[in-house]
Amino acid sequence: MSHVLAAVAWPYANGPRHIGHVSGFGVPSDVFARYMRMAGHDVLMVSGTDEHGTPIQVQADADGVTPRELADRYNRVIVEDLHGLGLSYDLFTRTTTRNHYAVVQELFEGMYRNGYIVPKTTMGAISPSTGRTLPDRYIEGTCPICGYDSARGDQCDNCGNQLDPIDLIDPKSRINGETPKFVETEHFFLDLPALAEVLRQWLDTREGWRPNVLRFSRNLLDDLQPRAITRDLEWGVPIPLDGWRDRPDKRIYVWFDAVIGYLSASIEWARRSGDPEAWRQYWSADGAGKDSQSYYFMGKDNIVFHSVIWPALLSGYSGEGSRDGAPGELGRLNLPTEVVSSEYLTMEGRKFSSSRKVVIYVRDFLERYDADALRYFIAAAGPESNDTDFTWAEFLRRNNDELVAGWGNLVNRCVSMAAKNFGEIPPVDPAGLTEADEALLATSRAGFATVGDLIGRHRQKQAIGEAMRVVAEANRYLSEQAPWKLKGEADKPRMGTILHVALQVISDANTLLTPFLPHSAQQVHELLGGTGVHAPMPVIEQVDDLDGGPSYPVLTGDYTVGARWESVSIEAGRPLAAPKPVFRKLDPSIVDEELARLAD
Ligand SMILES: [Zn+2]
Repeated sequence: MSHVLAAVAWPYANGPRHIGHVSGFGVPSDVFARYMRMAGHDVLMVSGTDEHGTPIQVQADADGVTPRELADRYNRVIVEDLHGLGLSYDLFTRTTTRNHYAVVQELFEGMYRNGYIVPKTTMGAISPSTGRTLPDRYIEGTCPICGYDSARGDQCDNCGNQLDPIDLIDPKSRINGETPKFVETEHFFLDLPALAEVLRQWLDTREGWRPNVLRFSRNLLDDLQPRAITRDLEWGVPIPLDGWRDRPDKRIYVWFDAVIGYLSASIEWARRSGDPEAWRQYWSADGAGKDSQSYYFMGKDNIVFHSVIWPALLSGYSGEGSRDGAPGELGRLNLPTEVVSSEYLTMEGRKFSSSRKVVIYVRDFLERYDADALRYFIAAAGPESNDTDFTWAEFLRRNNDELVAGWGNLVNRCVSMAAKNFGEIPPVDPAGLTEADEALLATSRAGFATVGDLIGRHRQKQAIGEAMRVVAEANRYLSEQAPWKLKGEADKPRMGTILHVALQVISDANTLLTPFLPHSAQQVHELLGGTGVHAPMPVIEQVDDLDGGPSYPVLTGDYTVGARWESVSIEAGRPLAAPKPVFRKLDPSIVDEELARLAD
């Protein structure tokens, strides 16, 4: 048993999330966290909404609200979506808490003291007519990388590259169209070259990573440049240095503050748990957290922040780059054990695009379909290690042929037959088990090692395939044994044995599927006569900011209860009722209905 941090990418709070987002970071991290808890580890799963930066400021300006109001709106939407999917966060918080500000500033100061954050004179834009600083978001021009003609001063929304206003071709002020003047201004830079060697040594010791992630991360180290971590912007975390702290026009860059969220959320969780030091069991490189592990889950567009930037910040704060230094008051901090990145999900052969309506939001999906139907699709057919296409036809097929006809029908048939003929879980006939009975039971028992090992190594597609193979074996066993033919009094004990064996295997398969399908796993548990919590679920709680800021909703839960990762013998004699179907069969007409929505 060990301490395991599941660090999940922070969704940006400028709109609702679509299923492409949650297939990359949401469901895989939850499957992993649920399995690790069931296997007896102390898991801490944290994340939150990422709420600073220009895009939120720009959208708030357009909507006539403050950035905080906009962030409040989408923080709530995202919390509700993740809750609907049953994602078992110990804490899902946000980057606008005072706790987060304090932790970001502590890391900034520690790195600055150690010499890994350095001031640098760069060219900043001012308005020639007013002489005032022109924030990045008010400068627009042609992207020097992709040629997009409405790139913003800090980022191109077309190619996603980070920019500097001075890089733009033909820059213009969005306020009055004038050409900005560039004058010398001071910003802070992260000295990545001073951290390159320690990052390389760390990457060289990584084992078990997906090869493309490791290769991509190593290549990034070949050309590390100092990177600006402050911007001309009013919305963000203030710079915690004398002469800067009170400046309203300079803020820490959003990506710098957001990655620190993993640490600040862990500290917030600990403060809320009643043991303010508990976070150290997951983070301290000396003492309490020395043997802990940390797994970071994200889509591939975020690899650089997790395999280079975040470990660079942690190393710089711990005083471990080429400039040495001493750890700050949080002590030496653990670097990631593994960066688990998934590929892209496309939709009906196209890139997800909210503006072109090639999208289905989590909320709309959950209004029409069950959470486990989506979780099943993502686990069985998601973008784990290849770009993958979501099609409604494939979603329908997976739901109807695999979930409903394969798994749901197995549960339904066996529980119904046992309820009708025995009214309870029948006992095994004293004549004992046949070879076929023993073979099936051995298959499901063996599944715990196989499926568990695959989830532990982030091969969830193969893992759910193995769990569904147990289901297929049980269906084959039933067809061969045909218990429905054993109606006579003399045959009834054998019928009871077959159903006992089948129900035992259903119970085992249900445990194997619990990390993937927690909602239906709870139902199957109850159909088998079980009581209590089998698969714990997150709850939304409105909490006070710990340091006096406004209150906000968090996602949290008690996950110490629930099934363990082991075969539990079912009890003969436990009463059974006629079951309700666990999964909904979908009408094929949904495919055309959904495609019509897309084409709108
Ligand atoms: Zn571009």
